[in-house]
Amino acid sequence: MGNIAASIITIGDELLIGQTIDTNSAWIAQRLNEHGIDVLRRVAVGDTRSAIETALDEELSKHNLVLITGGLGPTSDDITKPLLCDYFGGKLVIDERVLIHIKEIFSKRNRPMLDRNLKQSEVPDNCIVLFNKAGTAPGMWFEKDGKIIIAMPGVPFEMITIMEDEVLPRFKNIFKSDSLIHKTIFTAGEGESFIAEKLMDLEAQLPLNIKLAYLPDGSMVKLRLTGRGADEHILENQLVELQNKFADRLGTIVIALNDLPMAQILGNAFLENKKTFGIAESCTGGYIGHSITQVPGSSAYFMGSIVSYSNDLKESILGVSHDTIVNYGAVSKDTAIEMVKGALKVLNVDYALATTGVLGPDGGNEFLKIGTVWMAVADKNSIKTKEFKFHYDRQRNKFMAAQMGMLMLWKFINNK
Ligand code: AMP
Ligand code: MG
Repeated sequence: MGNIAASIITIGDELLIGQTIDTNSAWIAQRLNEHGIDVLRRVAVGDTRSAIETALDEELSKHNLVLITGGLGPTSDDITKPLLCDYFGGKLVIDERVLIHIKEIFSKRNRPMLDRNLKQSEVPDNCIVLFNKAGTAPGMWFEKDGKIIIAMPGVPFEMITIMEDEVLPRFKNIFKSDSLIHKTIFTAGEGESFIAEKLMDLEAQLPLNIKLAYLPDGSMVKLRLTGRGADEHILENQLVELQNKFADRLGTIVIALNDLPMAQILGNAFLENKKTFGIAESCTGGYIGHSITQVPGSSAYFMGSIVSYSNDLKESILGVSHDTIVNYGAVSKDTAIEMVKGALKVLNVDYALATTGVLGPDGGNEFLKIGTVWMAVADKNSIKTKEFKFHYDRQRNKFMAAQMGMLMLWKFINNK
């Protein structure tokens, strides 16, 4: 196949009314991108014959690879399979392997099998069947006029299973394209304009096969270098050299040279140092503990989070003094300090982080602005505090506070 132009069609009324967010397209596009295949267009249509046929006509007129998800279930609104069968001029026949698989699924779950479930083992006789070990609806691979059309179920987990088991390995054989490699420089503490200014001359000298993207998120900016090249090994070396050059120029604002979540970057620092930590969370309500425990293996360094949302709990569990809260307020430097001391002691950890703030939309006053968050980090010898002001809505303020808290702790353990 020459140049590959790919399109993704997602099918389902739920996508059009905003009930389901189309995560399938994003996932597929990302994986195709890694395989050097450009997605040129994404289309979402409802569960009607005419809408699906029109989308197929249009996408196939401009692209030679079309991936479809959705409409393969056992209910009457799922019409993709018979439609594709007709569209490519085939007829439905039972696939023995799929039939056995479906029967197995039902006997394992101890549920009665209905005719409509059996029907899922029917496949068009003019396609390659893409076996779905994660569910009952198989995927389908059609070829027509030198073009490839692939249909998969809408359930994300099933689509991913079929892509990984059946589709991507075939792509590797068929499409021998350039390698595509991404490298990330994760920075915190400066905005993208400042960074762009610092990198101006280096950016101007970038070779044609390498592009630089700025991906800001709150007060963190990820820089992504993307390179294309025929030789993967040469490309990798070229990118690593540039990544180091850019990172050297940016100095202390660089916190990692990979594209990991902040919680994992923090976790890695604790793993390397063989230290433990815990948290006392007020305004973040356990969100930091949740983020930390999303990382597999976090039990090696994370002991726990005390969600001390009320003033009473700050006093009774963490030992914050009543006078401190009355005199300085729950959202104050002094309370944050006593919270972090309490966490160190109660959780018996090497390091601790504490958050206390007012995230909005209510709760502010002329002395305490909404979005104010006091944080403290500590080990047995020293304490650092910082006041943050976030200017978003409640959810985003909470997310930002969590990110900044983790960053503050990361800096503390790295003496930065
Ligand atoms: P279907 O194959 O049409 O029966 O899809 C089954 C379920 O998968 C739907 O009810 C949605 O919850 C989910 N789903 C369908 N399409 C998508 C999509 N593009 N992205 C994420 N989830 C989807
Ligand atoms: Mg559907």
